[in-house]
Amino acid sequence: MANSRFEYVKSFEQPDVLLPNTWIVVRIDGRGFHKLSDHYAFAKPNDRRALDLMNAAAVEVMKELPDLCIAYGVSDEFSFVFHPNCQLFERRNGKLVTTIVSTFTAHYIYKWSEYFPERPLLPPYLPSFDGRAVIYPNNRILRDYMSWRQVDCHINNLYNTTFWTMVLQGGMSNTDAEQELKGTVSADKNEILFKRFGINYNNELEIYKKGTVLYRQYELEEPKPAKSPSDEESSVVESQQSRSQQDKIRKLRRKAQVVIDHVDIIKDEFWEKRPWILS
Ligand code: ATP
Ligand code: ATP
Ligand code: MG
Ligand code: MG
Ligand code: MG
Repeated sequence: MANSRFEYVKSFEQPDVLLPNTWIVVRIDGRGFHKLSDHYAFAKPNDRRALDLMNAAAVEVMKELPDLCIAYGVSDEFSFVFHPNCQLFERRNGKLVTTIVSTFTAHYIYKWSEYFPERPLLPPYLPSFDGRAVIYPNNRILRDYMSWRQVDCHINNLYNTTFWTMVLQGGMSNTDAEQELKGTVSADKNEILFKRFGINYNNELEIYKKGTVLYRQYELEEPKPAKSPSDEESSVVESQQSRSQQDKIRKLRRKAQVVIDHVDIIKDEFWEKRPWILS
């Protein structure tokens, strides 16, 4: 870069490097999606195509950024998790968040017409997303973060399913349904659904009840377990790994298939069956 007397302005840039050896979660969330979902007539409470589009965009983000280990999505939000070893952009907060947000948004808009062919995107109703990075110091707290999002998914979905059933099937006004649901607990909502509408909440689709988890499936591509990145990465900080080792891991991650799942990530089972995700 050419030197000039203007170059001192560069020194006004503030460092924003995230603490080393911590999990980095970048959570993005649709801006004004309540309005946007009304405008494009998303089905209430859950528009399946809108969720599939979110998931498809997130898969592309996972494919473009091999440093990501897992992602979890619900409604208009997605959390992307970088491993403590991650050195992408020297762990600069702004770079990580803006890259995730813009890559996701680009794919979301690119794929929109595939999922909503009869509703073309038109300004001013264009999808955009905000994002933030949060660091978590250990596996336990990272898992508590993931559990927090999935519990949120469950609580909101039970509420929304009951509310919209009362309105759409029960012919209640929005305010009446809201009034009746005030102060109710889960058991009350399950009972309203079952006794009044014959709906067993347990039979609702898993994607609505559990949200979506994305992770890499190495076994499908990589039959030799010794070659899985979990072994190579275990307890070694990236800064201590050789460049070729890092490149090899990145290559393996790029080749691995990204799986879309709708399962419980709160209990141990999910993580015990897939030890490579957090290793
Ligand atoms: P903000 O800009 O503050 O995030 P918002 O309107 O996006 O505002 P959220 O709390 O993020 O508010 O809620 C997202 C809203 O988008 C939901 O409440 C719901 O109305 C709508 N929405 C998102 N995804 C779907 C979907 N798959 N099906 C139906 N509605 C959806
Ligand atoms: P990074 O991902 O780190 O930003 P980069 O390759 O995008 O890497 P920048 O420093 O952002 O690097 O530089 C952008 C480069 O893109 C310019 O150096 C130039 O080569 C190219 N470029 C951008 N806009 C134009 C344009 N309008 N015409 C020709 N080249 C362009
Ligand atoms: Mg939103
Ligand atoms: Mg939201
Ligand atoms: Mg650039």
